[in-house]
Amino acid sequence: MNFEHLFQQRLAALQREGRYRVFADLKRRRGAFPVADHFAANGSREVTVWCSNDYLGMGQHPKVIAAMHEAIDTVGAGSGGTRNISGTTHYHVELEQELADLHGKEAALLFTSAYVANDATLSTLVKLVPGTVVFSDERNHASMIEGIRRGNGEKQIFRHNDVADLEAKLKRYPKGTPKIIVFESVYSMDGHIAPIAAICDLAEKYGALTYLDEVHAVGLYGPRGGGIAERDGVMDRVDIINGTLAKGFGVMGGYIAGSRDLCDAIRSFASGFIFTTSLAPAIAAGALASIRHLKTSSVERGRHQERVRTLKRSLKAKGLPVMDNPSHIVPVMVGCPIHCKAVTDTLLRQYGIYVQPINYPTVAKGTERMRLTPSPAHSDEQMTTLIHALEGLWAACAVQNGTYAKLAAE
Ligand code: PLP
Repeated sequence: MNFEHLFQQRLAALQREGRYRVFADLKRRRGAFPVADHFAANGSREVTVWCSNDYLGMGQHPKVIAAMHEAIDTVGAGSGGTRNISGTTHYHVELEQELADLHGKEAALLFTSAYVANDATLSTLVKLVPGTVVFSDERNHASMIEGIRRGNGEKQIFRHNDVADLEAKLKRYPKGTPKIIVFESVYSMDGHIAPIAAICDLAEKYGALTYLDEVHAVGLYGPRGGGIAERDGVMDRVDIINGTLAKGFGVMGGYIAGSRDLCDAIRSFASGFIFTTSLAPAIAAGALASIRHLKTSSVERGRHQERVRTLKRSLKAKGLPVMDNPSHIVPVMVGCPIHCKAVTDTLLRQYGIYVQPINYPTVAKGTERMRLTPSPAHSDEQMTTLIHALEGLWAACAVQNGTYAKLAAE
């Protein structure tokens, strides 16, 4: 078997479809977000990043950086072990307490990422309670789909944010059947927001547990940054909340928050929690500083929402195809992977603007897009440069007639 040849064939197919992924080689500049240096074969240059998930710029916040420095200076680099074998530091314990408090839950449990948290928790839950039926929103993130799949139980996929379809599916099972409804608060690619209260009503009516991924909402919404459930006043109605420390909080790691028994069960049975080294103490310390800051400061959230509104309004004013949604995600639709890559290549090369093209399987084929994420740190001037660049590219009608593919190749 010639494995190399097979790999090359598979990669060539991706390239033909225009969705071969090219990573931008970046070096963020401390304190200067969203400015970074972009490295290419012909050297490096300054770019403005318009697609970061460091939504509030907390990865550059002086308090976060200071906390990480202090932790390294105090305890060194790594945690030294799995949580069970010497890797539970005081930073981890404090961070879990802070997260439980943020979500108004009895307990929280840290993971190395929210991907691992979703995968490990969902697969373990389904295995722990045989006969569980999982009701999963059709647009759920890959990490939840994978966790549900590995749980190996029965599943029902309901239409995106469609409570009537969810109810029709819940109704088919006796009240005594164990059920979990799995959904997100902010859907990261379209920016839709879930009807959390209505889903909780159904969960109560049909005796289901609720599992809510707030990865794209924690830090950003709610008076203390607890997410959409906090903003909507329904946090106490959601059984399990999943979040990340990598996006709104600007560092790294993931977690769940829920009842003491639930967290204890996942801690005791989930392989993705047990058999891996715990987060570095400096990471836990940085996340802790970030959460504590955002619990009391709404300045970043206020400015973030203002920047989002301004960008959406300006894009619409120029007739650019921005997808309407009620969140901070600003999708600009292109609808073809080759054109999408060509547009973003041109933005980078001609304007020093970095936006990663979003292709299948992250979004459905034919809905390829640029996903803009304005932060509190994006200035009016940076916004004007972006809008002028996009306007120029669209005015040339190149996206529609395909000439951008040619432009980018030049
Ligand atoms: N859940 C959702 C909805 C996501 O979009 C992502 C990542 O983008 C994750 C979970 C995983 O988060 P993390 O980057 O912390 O692994």
